[in-house]
Amino acid sequence: MNLVLMGLPGAGKGTQAEQIVEKYNIPHISTGDMFRTAIKDGTELGLEAKSFMDKGELVPDEVTIGIVRERLSKDDCFKGFLLDGFPRTVAQAEALESILTDLDRKINFVINIDVDKSILMERLTGRRICKSCGATYHLVFNPPAKDEVCDRCGGELYQRADDNEETVQNRLDVNLKQTKPLLDFYGEKGYLVNINGQQDINKVFENIDVLLGALQN
Ligand SMILES: [Zn+2]
Repeated sequence: MNLVLMGLPGAGKGTQAEQIVEKYNIPHISTGDMFRTAIKDGTELGLEAKSFMDKGELVPDEVTIGIVRERLSKDDCFKGFLLDGFPRTVAQAEALESILTDLDRKINFVINIDVDKSILMERLTGRRICKSCGATYHLVFNPPAKDEVCDRCGGELYQRADDNEETVQNRLDVNLKQTKPLLDFYGEKGYLVNINGQQDINKVFENIDVLLGALQN
């Protein structure tokens, strides 16, 4: 079961990833984890990645791809894997195809958790935090009883700068633009499955589960 998980910020990718790896017992491979492991193991590529990260620079593609190759060659990936956060570009996707060909594997599905931008905006801009005690609320999913006032301590609620409309809009636009060619690439290959991420999160997992259950038979 070789999977790539995609979805914009706020689509609920993290929750679904947790459920998939728990039920199907495959490793969840995120880019951050992969880098940390390679650095901790002191592999040549890990050290190379670290030298870029220490300088605050982006890790070049050939290093990232090398680390992905090392990770996917490990024993725990024998049953499969869930890649999350890689690939980000068509060039990386092509590199992944060649890694998998060398390992005599192929991607089964690229699961894209699909949510309308307007709904992502609502999810991502609704967070409010109490100035006094730090309690968090969400205007839609977990609203305080009284507008802009903390239920717990009566403190004033505020919105973090990261959560404001303009910043979120910008982040989503950048992500949409980056993701589009990748979705097209996987669509043409026939790997792409869009899952409706606007349903209840349990229902979203049910849809994914039906898809993956079919692979096991
Ligand atoms: Zn409070």
